Amino acid sequence: MAKRIDGKAIAAEIREKVALDVQNLAKKGITPGLAVVIVGNDPASRTYVNNKKKACAQAGLLSEEYALPAQTTQQELMELVQKLNKKKEIHGILVQSPLPNGLDEEAVVEAIDPEKDVDAFHPSNVGRIMIGNYHFLPCTPAGVIELLRAENIEISGKNCVVIGRSNIVGKPMAMLLLHNNGTVTICHSKTKDLKEICNKADILVAAVGKAKFVTEDMVKPGAVVIDVGMNRDENGKLCGDVDFDSVEKIASYITPVPGGVGPMTIAMLLKNTVTAAKRQNI
Ligand code: NAP
Repeated sequence: MAKRIDGKAIAAEIREKVALDVQNLAKKGITPGLAVVIVGNDPASRTYVNNKKKACAQAGLLSEEYALPAQTTQQELMELVQKLNKKKEIHGILVQSPLPNGLDEEAVVEAIDPEKDVDAFHPSNVGRIMIGNYHFLPCTPAGVIELLRAENIEISGKNCVVIGRSNIVGKPMAMLLLHNNGTVTICHSKTKDLKEICNKADILVAAVGKAKFVTEDMVKPGAVVIDVGMNRDENGKLCGDVDFDSVEKIASYITPVPGGVGPMTIAMLLKNTVTAAKRQNI
């Protein structure tokens, strides 16, 4: 039976360290500030934004919400980003995705000052990650690395398989595993022999977005299984990309959903915002 990696507890430890950092910055008159921009009425986005604001408040960070109507134009959104780029009290800017149809998300991300890009989605930060000379890491993949580290799971020399190649999870996840000396294979919807490739993984990361996609027959006994997915099952219950009940029986470690990768994403966002505040006050 696999050990369940308790993302909630590990994230709580990181948040405590962030809170300490915030207290130390306060002595220098600095309060790390995060601007969260939300456009439209997507209920999932609203929940994520509320959670991020709550986490900021708990750790002593300033958070400002900019809620814009779905009819917001590209120009209005770009102007807001420019305003936030210049605002001294704001060290990090996050534009919650997805944006409503008709808005160019890529252009918005590119408009964010890379020093305030706490999601690490700006091409300049993505390039830095590729080179291995970065200030910020994207929150979800960085959270996964922290989970592995907290459990003393060695990455170096391991066969790591990432299912998914999105810009926000799959690709940076693969890059971070590579930086940690893993031997990395990236799979996607056109991958042939997915089952065989997954079966060779010592560390298997699922970022597919399909409920219970990873089944027991895809997992090598003793593998570490990290589930990034956040889906709804047939009963509307939150579940991951991994068929938890069957895979738990053969893996050595597994992350549950909820309570695995999810809490780490927010913890890493707070950490990035503190890093941004420090960098902007050197
Ligand atoms: P995405 O942009 O939809 O990417 C999904 C990836 O899965 C794509 O690369 C796609 O391949 C691949 N894929 C789809 N069907 C496949 C198949 N049959 N076989 C192999 N690969 C397949 O999703 P995402 O943004 O990366 O997110 C992935 C999941 O993580 C979602 O459930 C999302 O909600 C969750 N998520 C969680 C957190 C968190 O904090 N826990 C954060 C972000 C995302 P192609 O590229 O070929 O289409």
